[in-house]
Amino acid sequence: MRSHLDLAREFGQAPWFNQTGSFEWWTSPQSQVDQRENFSQMKEWGYGVEWIEPRKVKELEPDINVEAVNGAPILYYPEEGWVDPALYVAWLLRAANARAEVALHTGTRVSGLRTDACKVTGVRLDNGDDVVADAVVNCAGSWSADPIDGAPIVPMASTVGIVAFTLPVATTLRRQFHAEDLDVRPDGAGRIMIHKVSVDRTLLEKKRLDPAGAEGRALLDAAARYLPALAMTEIEAIRTTMRPIPAGDGLTCVGAFPQTPGYYLAVTHSGVTLAPYLGKAVAEEVVFGRQHPDLSEFRPARFFAGEESPLRFGTGPARKRGNEFN
Ligand SMILES: Cc1cc2nc3c(=O)[nH]c(=O)nc-3n(C[C@H](O)[C@H](O)[C@H](O)COP(=O)(O)OP(=O)(O)OC[C@H]3O[C@@H](n4cnc5c(N)ncnc54)[C@H](O)[C@@H]3O)c2cc1C
Repeated sequence: MRSHLDLAREFGQAPWFNQTGSFEWWTSPQSQVDQRENFSQMKEWGYGVEWIEPRKVKELEPDINVEAVNGAPILYYPEEGWVDPALYVAWLLRAANARAEVALHTGTRVSGLRTDACKVTGVRLDNGDDVVADAVVNCAGSWSADPIDGAPIVPMASTVGIVAFTLPVATTLRRQFHAEDLDVRPDGAGRIMIHKVSVDRTLLEKKRLDPAGAEGRALLDAAARYLPALAMTEIEAIRTTMRPIPAGDGLTCVGAFPQTPGYYLAVTHSGVTLAPYLGKAVAEEVVFGRQHPDLSEFRPARFFAGEESPLRFGTGPARKRGNEFN
């Protein structure tokens, strides 16, 4: 959260970051135990979090039906908010171009690494072009485990994520809320974005869904319980995507591959939340060789410990994502 604020200060404005605060209420007894533990941990870390009464929720967000919370304890995270990722990317690319004349290659993919005596010297693109570089950072999210000729691979266990967007609704909701198995946030211009892990689990692979289909209905009904303004609306768009999750522990994987000098990986499921922190940390490691001790538990090396041949290298066409090495 602090890195998001630092970035906003650096830019003088951050139209992509809506620092509105967020609510969380969990209803099952076990979840409430976890929630109390999380609260203590966050407090210890100095993270902004407080227990609040339902009437405070009503005061801050009159459109939320607090009766539906049914007496569950409510946490408020005043420092949190929501990020509009497309806008965020656009602002950063514009700044990168203005400050460092960054060249952007779109509409083609990286198909291989250029190497010279094992040291990475750039990438080969699908369109036949070569890009020369001192270092290559693979930040291809769920695709980062797709074989790229000559590149070591970290196994991924990405899962499907489904998000639905309503038609514009007359609601004043500004803050996001997280209930058990439900995440709701505004998406601008009156649209509301809805997510449920249990709906994600109904799909094993990414596919196009009908906004009027069962998945959209389940998402809308769950959100309308807490946000009655949604009762009369419809799902305008529903998207499926892959959530980039490193295999095994599911944690961020970031760092160099010592056996392949010049090659670096940055993949995480918390890509939006962590981007302002990770982006700087990765740049410092790659450009200045300054190791961030905070990242020591998140290195690619954890996937290769104890193996006879420490690295696997990609060759040939891309394979199915997920669990490749399990
Ligand atoms: C429902 C849901 C909820 C989520 N909630 C959160 C959250 O609360 N906080 C959070 O931080 N994250 C959340 N995420 C995850 C978030 O979307 C990812 O962390 C984020 O998108 C990762 O960004 P990235 O740039 O690393 O990878 P991606 O967004 O996956 O981008 C990778 C890019 O690499 C490109 N690419 C792939 N292969 C190649 C190639 N060979 N050559 C060149 N380019 C290539 C792709 O086209 C793509 O543009 C959520 C995701 C879902 C689905």
